[in-house]
Amino acid sequence: MKIRVGYGYDVHKLGNGLRLVLGGIDIPHTKGCIAHSDGDVLIHALCDAILGAANLRDIGFHFPDTSADFENIDSKILLRKTMDLVKAEGWDFANADTTICLEKPKVKDFIGKMQETLAEVMDIDADAISVKATTTETLGFVGTQDGIAAHAVVLLTK
Ligand SMILES: [Zn+2]
Repeated sequence: MKIRVGYGYDVHKLGNGLRLVLGGIDIPHTKGCIAHSDGDVLIHALCDAILGAANLRDIGFHFPDTSADFENIDSKILLRKTMDLVKAEGWDFANADTTICLEKPKVKDFIGKMQETLAEVMDIDADAISVKATTTETLGFVGTQDGIAAHAVVLLTK
């Protein structure tokens, strides 16, 4: 059996009065991500980790932010397409572990819903996707609430 690990990282700038979408769900907040798509930084990191594990380039290669096709797109669609790409190469999804880095708001009450939402889109068990959140102790662009970052690692098997 082949086992492959993949890693993904994404950052978006925050802007006042925009939707904040994380892990496929809307989070009530005064700021949201500035992006070509819905700015779901967690899904973007997850897609890059999935693609990386299958050595299939990155999210910008498959879904360029210069394309009108992906303007304001629901990132859940990108995630489903990403899963289709790796499945077409014969890969099975084993698990993912992810971390969202943000100062505010507290997202712990939304973690379960994010896991369920991602699992449904990816057609996997919610148990196979871990979502964690951390602050950066007010340091850096995350700490000043200028941006949100997300990290993801994924294991694929064949
Ligand atoms: Zn992104």
